[in-house]
Amino acid sequence: MKKKICKNCKLFVEENVCPVCKGNQFNTSWQGKLNVLDCKNSVIGKKMGIHANGEYAIKTR
Ligand SMILES: [Zn+2]
Repeated sequence: MKKKICKNCKLFVEENVCPVCKGNQFNTSWQGKLNVLDCKNSVIGKKMGIHANGEYAIKTR
């Protein structure tokens, strides 16, 4: 089974609540992964509006 991501921030989440935005809406239709290690200096992270380090999906449907 594909991992689920938070609909709000696209973070990969294993629990039932997103640790970043506390959202509980998830999506399993995603493509590509992005590992953000330094969100403050990541250009892609800024473009995607990422405010916390972690593993994110690049595209969602
Ligand atoms: Zn979230």
